[in-house]
Amino acid sequence: MLPRTFQSAEADAFRDTVRRFFEEEVAPQHVGWEERGFVDRAIWKRAGELGLLCLTIPEEYGGAGADRRYCAILMEELARARVSGMSFLSYTEVFATYVLRFGTEAQRRQWLPRIACGEIVCCVAMTEPGTGSDLQAITTRARRDGDDYVIDGAKTFISYGSAGDLYVVALKTRNETSGKDEISLMLVEGDRPGFTKGQPLAKIGLRSQDLCELRFDQVRVPCANLLGTEGRGMAMLMQELAWERIMIAIPAVASAERALADTVAYTRERKAFGQAVSDFQHNRFALAEMKSEIAIGQAFVDRCVEAYMDGSLSTEAAAAAKLWCTELLCRTVDRCLQLHGGYGYMEETPIARAWRDARVSRIYAGTNEIMREIVARSL
Ligand SMILES: Cc1cc2nc3c(=O)[nH]c(=O)nc-3n(C[C@H](O)[C@H](O)[C@H](O)COP(=O)(O)OP(=O)(O)OC[C@H]3O[C@@H](n4cnc5c(N)ncnc54)[C@H](O)[C@@H]3O)c2cc1C
Repeated sequence: MLPRTFQSAEADAFRDTVRRFFEEEVAPQHVGWEERGFVDRAIWKRAGELGLLCLTIPEEYGGAGADRRYCAILMEELARARVSGMSFLSYTEVFATYVLRFGTEAQRRQWLPRIACGEIVCCVAMTEPGTGSDLQAITTRARRDGDDYVIDGAKTFISYGSAGDLYVVALKTRNETSGKDEISLMLVEGDRPGFTKGQPLAKIGLRSQDLCELRFDQVRVPCANLLGTEGRGMAMLMQELAWERIMIAIPAVASAERALADTVAYTRERKAFGQAVSDFQHNRFALAEMKSEIAIGQAFVDRCVEAYMDGSLSTEAAAAAKLWCTELLCRTVDRCLQLHGGYGYMEETPIARAWRDARVSRIYAGTNEIMREIVARSL
């Protein structure tokens, strides 16, 4: 409804490229991936060839050297094309940013070019069977043994965990001076002895994203695999959280917009009592309300992206964006499914998949209750 704030010939050309890629190369394969439960590895390489995997990483490390507004475009187009299996694009971006910001020069040179070209699949492993929201309560730990760390513990709900080649693992290390346990981040290669990946977990949505448990049984990694400073893991994670939450809010609004567009088209065609379903005043109003809410959500998200770019994005604004936009998405897909009637409940109807896929957005990347806590702290 309002003009978008970030527009340029270059941005439009980039949007066209990613739209074509998702529509022509990814969407046709997506149903097959959903049935199999994982994405085809070859698509990662293709995304790498197009320069989409490490958009904001400097060119000297194999990235595209773009600013984060291009990530926003990428996430929007991904959501619009409804190719939820490819949200690994956000994982590579998050992962590569950790390596760029906190890694040593050797780690950057070793890993970033391989992530950028899609040669390796990377995963972020924080959640454990016993704790998710309360990261301080994790029990996976690494103890020093000569020039190595030895890791024991378990992680769960790790996206792309079965396919993963490289993991950034949040774990506890002992601060020998204070005697306290602190959170550190460790890079762990998937083929280390003692590291096992569980069977893919069956879930209600995002069916082409494999999700699994990981076990660490005396996994030995060299000290050179420590990411950043020992014991500073929490502080490092916090630095990226605001943007990671915006990366959830952006596709939430775009997915809602796509659901509405599909529903407008469907209800114009579908007839009841001699008229189009969209012409009943109740339904016209429902569509109008959704359109208004999506436009309002879009304006807030665009403003958050701008604020991020000029360094003024606050923690509570990012939390509010994640909270409100994911609630908006779930509300919208539910109303849209209702407007499809019984067909909306059928497996092959796109709105059914949108409805299933949306639900997790209120749970991951920090649950919406935690987002409310963060916003409440600013009252
Ligand atoms: C599809 C999917 C993909 C995921 N991908 C990853 C991944 O790649 N890497 C990774 O590390 N994790 C991943 N996760 C895990 C996800 O981040 C966690 O599920 C999430 O953080 C919540 O943790 P939990 O499941 O342990 O819930 P819990 O923390 O046990 O929470 C249970 C309930 O209690 C509520 N609650 C907790 N604390 C509070 C509080 N202070 N106030 C009010 N309510 C509270 C929560 O909001 C929730 O409603 C994924 C999860 C899913 C479902």
